[in-house]
Amino acid sequence: MPTLTASISGWGRYPVQSCELERPERYADLGSDAASVIARGQGRSYGDAALNENRRVLLTERVNRLLDFDVDNGILRAEAGATLAEILGVIVPKGWFLPVTPGTKFVSLGGCVAADVHGKNHHHDGSFGDFVLAIELILADDSRVTCSAAENPELFWATVGGMGLTGIIGEVKFKLAPIQSAHMMVRHHAAGNLEQLFQLLEDPGRDDRYTVAWIDCLANGQSLGRGVVMCGHHAAAEELPAGFGNVFAAKPERSRQVPFDFPGWVLNPLSIGAFNALYYRHEGKKQQPFLTGYDPYFYPLDSIGQWNRMYGKRGFLQYQCVIPDATGYEGIKALLLELSASRRSSFLAVLKRLGAQGRGLLSFPVAGYTLALDLPIRDDGLFVLLNKLDEIVLRHGGRVYLAKDARLSADSFRSMYPRYGEWLKIKNAVDPQNRFSSSLARRLGVRSDAT
Ligand SMILES: Cc1cc2nc3c(=O)[nH]c(=O)nc-3n(C[C@H](O)[C@H](O)[C@H](O)COP(=O)(O)OP(=O)(O)OC[C@H]3O[C@@H](n4cnc5c(N)ncnc54)[C@H](O)[C@@H]3O)c2cc1C
Repeated sequence: MPTLTASISGWGRYPVQSCELERPERYADLGSDAASVIARGQGRSYGDAALNENRRVLLTERVNRLLDFDVDNGILRAEAGATLAEILGVIVPKGWFLPVTPGTKFVSLGGCVAADVHGKNHHHDGSFGDFVLAIELILADDSRVTCSAAENPELFWATVGGMGLTGIIGEVKFKLAPIQSAHMMVRHHAAGNLEQLFQLLEDPGRDDRYTVAWIDCLANGQSLGRGVVMCGHHAAAEELPAGFGNVFAAKPERSRQVPFDFPGWVLNPLSIGAFNALYYRHEGKKQQPFLTGYDPYFYPLDSIGQWNRMYGKRGFLQYQCVIPDATGYEGIKALLLELSASRRSSFLAVLKRLGAQGRGLLSFPVAGYTLALDLPIRDDGLFVLLNKLDEIVLRHGGRVYLAKDARLSADSFRSMYPRYGEWLKIKNAVDPQNRFSSSLARRLGVRSDAT
C-alpha cells in the first residue's frame, strides 16, 4: 500500500512526530505488512497513542461504513473508522443514542473501544466496552477473529482499553441506549469550595444519569475547588413543552473556527481568572431545570473547529487521572493545591465520578473521582509539575489515563496499571513479534520486558 511521510500529532499537538501514513479504502485492505504499525482513528487522543515515530500509522478514516442497524433492538454494527458524529446522525432520528460518549463526537468507534472511553454517566452505566457485543480484530498474522465477552474473552478484554496494541479493530457491534427525544433536561448547582462540590457529587437527590463538575482551578484559600455541578438526562416525552414538534430533530450547531495559533500569552492566569469568574457566576445561576440539545450538552467544544490552536504553537497537555473513592477527596485536594502553588492555570478543569472498574485489563476507570486539566506547554517546568502530580496520584492509589497521556514514565505506568502483566501475556501470545506498537507503547516500555 502506498505511504506518505508526514509530521502528525494527537489533539494536544505535542509531540509532533514524523510517521509513514497508510490509508486503506476498504475493510478488505485493512492490515499492514509493516514490521511496526499502529491504527489511528480521528487522532483525538491527546498525546502519542496514535503516533508511531518513523514507522507506519494506519489511518482508518475511510473504513467507516455503517453495516447493520437493528432499529427495533438498538444494535449497530459498523466499521471501526466510523465516527460517533456519523452514527448519531443515523440513530438519533430513530430514537436511539450512544450508550457512552466522550466529550467530542469526532472520534472513531475503533478509538472508543481501544481507549474504552467513559462519559458523564460512567458512575451509572460503565464504559464503552461494557456495551460492545463483538469486534472483528485483525491480528499480527493477518488472520481475522471475532472477539466478545463470550468468544475469545481474554483477547476481547485485552483489546478493550488496549490502545491498539493487540491488533486492528475492523468492525464493532454494540448496543445503543433508547431515548424519547434529542434533548437534554439539565440542572446546575454551584459549589463554593471543594467540600461542597464533593457533597453535591455524592448527593443522590441531585445526581442524574449524566453528572460532571467544572472547577475553577484558579480559586484558592477558602474557595479552593469551587465549581458548578452539571446534571442532566435525556428529556422524556412528557418533559417537553406541548406542541414541541419533531422531538428527535436536533438543532444544527453554528460552527466556528479558531483561525490561527493563539500567541502563548493569550491564556494566562489573568485572562483565565476573568473567564472563570464570569463562567462560575453565569453557569452557577442555572439552578432551575432547562432544556438543551444533546450537541451543546455533550459536545460544547465541537462547535469551535480546531480549538486546540488556542493553546499556541507548542501545544498543550491534558492531565487526566483518577483517584479511588477511599482517598478521592484528599487526593483531588492535594492535586489542586499543587497546581495552585505552581501558579500554572488550567483553562479547563473537569471533575467526574467514575463507577466500577472497567473489565478491560488496561482500562482507565476505577471507582473514584477523575480530574482532567488542560495545561499549555510554555516551558519544561510543566513536565516537572506533572511528575509531582503523578507522585500524588500514586500515593493515593490512582492512575493516569493513557488516551490523554504524552509523558508518563514506564515505572509509573506499571505501578498504576497492576494488570499490565496479565495483559502482556495475551499480547505476547497474539503478537509475538510486537508488530503493533506506538510511540506511547515504546515510551511506556511495553514489551521491553517481554521474552
Ligand atoms: C475534546 C475531547 C474530549 C474528550 N473527552 C473524553 C471523555 O469524556 N472520555 C474519554 O474516555 N475520552 C475522551 N477523549 C479522548 C478520546 O475519546 C479518546 O482518545 C479516543 O480514543 C479518540 O478516538 P480517535 O478515533 O480519535 O482515536 P485515535 O486518537 O486516533 O487513537 C486512540 C487510540 O485508539 C487506537 N485505535 C484507533 N482506531 C483503532 C482501530 N481501528 N483498531 C485498533 N486501535 C485503534 C489507536 O491506536 C490509539 O491507541 C476526549 C478527547 C477530546 C479531544
